[in-house]
Amino acid sequence: MIVKVIADDCVGCETCVPECPVGAIVMKDDKAVIDQAKCTKCKKCIEVCPVEAIKAQD
Ligand code: SF4
Ligand code: SF4
Repeated sequence: MIVKVIADDCVGCETCVPECPVGAIVMKDDKAVIDQAKCTKCKKCIEVCPVEAIKAQD
């Protein structure tokens, strides 16, 4: 399983960035991007995204 941002759905609000406990989320071209090498799959970011742009995928 990986946690990823659906770029087409992300509105660039940056809400998720400070919520990640390991600093795995960065903004790139006004979209959130998750560094898979850092992500621990805690799913905290999924809960805070106001437009449900972050998904856990198999
Ligand atoms: S699942 Fe957790 S560790 Fe991974 S990007 Fe989201 S908040 Fe960060
Ligand atoms: S919280 Fe959601 S909409 Fe806002 S930057 Fe993060 S992924 Fe994009």
